[in-house]
Amino acid sequence: MITLALSKGRIFDETLPLLAAAGIEVLEDPEKSRKLILATNQAGVRVVLVRASDVPTYVQYGGADMGVTGKDTLMESGSQGLYQPLDLQIAKCRVSVAVRADFDYASAVKQGSRLKVATKYVAIAREFFAAKGVHVDLIKLYGSMELAPLTGLADAIVDLVSTGNTLKANHLVEVEHIIDISSRLVVNQAALKLKQEPIRAIIDAFAAAVQKRNP
Ligand code: AMP
Repeated sequence: MITLALSKGRIFDETLPLLAAAGIEVLEDPEKSRKLILATNQAGVRVVLVRASDVPTYVQYGGADMGVTGKDTLMESGSQGLYQPLDLQIAKCRVSVAVRADFDYASAVKQGSRLKVATKYVAIAREFFAAKGVHVDLIKLYGSMELAPLTGLADAIVDLVSTGNTLKANHLVEVEHIIDISSRLVVNQAALKLKQEPIRAIIDAFAAAVQKRNP
């Protein structure tokens, strides 16, 4: 049995066509069912639904043989022991710094002000601001980062941006583009050895599908 860990939403939706290219069809819709283990049309393949930030943990400790996770998650929580054979080029976005439209970020940085930065990406933010020589107080949040500058909790946020519509709707502006993000296929190294043939077949089918969509 091959177990693939996915998170609901964008990653699940954008992985479906890759699975289809490997001849795998998920038999249940996670938006309609409460099941966390989803069968596929192949008796030897199943999908487990986990929180996006838990995908590397499931794969690392063998709760799943493989998984799909954002580069942001791998950067933030580490990727020890994970084999990363493929950039799937899905769920693309970027990690950026954003501030209120009326906050003069450039001046604050120039003056060496200490910035309060709210984010769920504490490690990424710490490294970015340290490299820039900007002093920051990092405030860890788990969601709705956009609210932090609007309520005075923080001067800036570090968050994922895709279209920029969420920032715009909250009167925030992007002032730094930290890194481009896409989702990766991650594989448990022991599983790769023990179940080499079926796992290789999935990796190869995914690779061909990614290549076809992004020539
Ligand atoms: P947007 O309004 O298109 O810029 O999307 C921004 C919102 O969607 C933010 O709340 C992000 O945290 C979230 N978001 C954007 N891209 C992704 C992604 N690839 N994976 C998870 N969340 C995302």
